Amino acid sequence: MQIKKLILLETFETNTYLIWDKIEKVGAVIDPANKAEEILQESQRLEFKIKYIINTHGHGDHIGANGRLKNLTGAELCIHKSDNDKLINPELNFSIFFDFNVISPKADKFLEDNEIISIGSEQLKVLHTPGHSPGSICLLGNGFLISGDTLFFEGVGRTDLPGSDESKLRKSIKEKLFVLPDITKVFPGHGGVTTIGYEKSHNPFIIY
Ligand SMILES: [Zn+2]
Ligand SMILES: [Zn+2]
Repeated sequence: MQIKKLILLETFETNTYLIWDKIEKVGAVIDPANKAEEILQESQRLEFKIKYIINTHGHGDHIGANGRLKNLTGAELCIHKSDNDKLINPELNFSIFFDFNVISPKADKFLEDNEIISIGSEQLKVLHTPGHSPGSICLLGNGFLISGDTLFFEGVGRTDLPGSDESKLRKSIKEKLFVLPDITKVFPGHGGVTTIGYEKSHNPFIIY
C-alpha cells in the first residue's frame, strides 16, 4: 500500500491522505479537507482511480472537498453512522463557527467497527474509536494506522467540543490503539507521523 500526505486546508493544517494499490491502480482519499481538483490531479499523476472517500469523522476541517471530489470521481463516500449527521449540517460539523460553511453529500456507506475495506489487493480495517466525536474511526493498514483526530504526535484530539467525551477517548486509545504493535506507524489527522510505541511512552495525555 502506498500512502501520501497532502495539506490542502492551511488554516487547520488538516492532513489529507491518499492511499492506493500501485499494482491494481485503485485507492482511497482519507479526509479530503479542501481542493478536490488538486486531489484528483494528484491521483492521476500517481496513476490510480479513487474508489472511496473515507472520513475519519465528520468535522468540517476533514470533509470540505467531499462533495466536489465525489462529483469528479463518482467515489463512494464512507463514514461511521454516528458522525453522519455532521456531514450535511454546518452547525454540527462546526464549519459555520469558522466562517466556512461545509455541506457534504450524505454518505453512501456506513462503516462499522472491525469492517474490512478492500483497496485493490490491500486491506484497511475500520476501528471505531469514539471520544473526539461519537463516530470517530481509525483505519488500520499493514503496519500503519490512520488515526484521524483520535491520536496525534504527543497529543490527542480535543474533548471540549459538543459530542466529545474524554473518558471514551482514553478508553478508545488504550483498548483499540495501544494494543497494536509498537512499530505501527501512525498518520494523524493533524501534525507529523509517529508510532504506537512512541506514543505509549511519550504521550502526555494518556497515562498508560
Ligand atoms: Zn475533529
Ligand atoms: Zn481535525
